[in-house]
Amino acid sequence: MPELPEVEVVRSGLASQLIGKTISQVETFHSRTLRNFKGTKKQFSQQLIGRTIKDVRRRGKFLWLVLADEDWVLSAHLGMSGQFLFQNTADKRPNHSRAIFGFSNLSQNLIFTDQRTFGWINIEPVIFDLNQKPIPVSVKKIKPDLFAKEFNESQTIKELQRRKTCVKNAILNQEIISGVGNIYADEALWYAKLDWKTPADQVSQLEYQELIAALQQVMKQALRDGGTSFDALYVNVNGESGYFEQSLRAYGRAGQLCYRCKSKLIREAFGVGRGSTRCPQCQKRKTAAR
Ligand SMILES: [Zn+2]
Repeated sequence: MPELPEVEVVRSGLASQLIGKTISQVETFHSRTLRNFKGTKKQFSQQLIGRTIKDVRRRGKFLWLVLADEDWVLSAHLGMSGQFLFQNTADKRPNHSRAIFGFSNLSQNLIFTDQRTFGWINIEPVIFDLNQKPIPVSVKKIKPDLFAKEFNESQTIKELQRRKTCVKNAILNQEIISGVGNIYADEALWYAKLDWKTPADQVSQLEYQELIAALQQVMKQALRDGGTSFDALYVNVNGESGYFEQSLRAYGRAGQLCYRCKSKLIREAFGVGRGSTRCPQCQKRKTAAR
């Protein structure tokens, strides 16, 4: 599932090609992709055709295209497997294509593919957040991510410590910190030597500072490496994989040896169908789990 680094790679890929381009064609192929749009496929296309893209923005895992002279935006969420791909107009559309956008001043089309259809695209009005930044309505409750200027570490730690859940659930909560998913949570917890199951209100301020620094560090490196293509569901807008999986220390390494202490990493069930991988030695379980 794309997390902050992957979505940021997609955002910058879209921005590099789309700014200043005018939408000339829109076709959508799957009702789930438009499930948040209150209108028909035809209305969706009509509202977009003729609009010029002014900017491509992101908060956490949410993306949106700012359109010139409009107080609404074209927003998107990649869900589990959504991809934006540029391709030549004559090429055969890829499998699982859910939408196609053509541009009057660009020789390539932009395709939204989504195998599992948890992703979506939508047209949304713009509102202003607490910092007077324009955002789509769907992003209203999503907190600034760890790289945003508005990110407030001490406030974030207070909110994390108020949660009656485990530390991993707390850092995955997009209404506290945005952009963190299973991969970078497991990685940062390994670097910070914290058991994922530690109750969020029993993690000290210092431990949270280390955890947040680890999250920043690990996501920064992932961004440099073009993201993590662990499950092959993530590629950039040119169809290329990231290579951060080569640097993973915990995620996906259950049964292999810890890079720090050489203990065997273990995977434990975490929520429905998901897992958490940790080192039983470096990330010892200290307290009774909740
Ligand atoms: Zn270890």
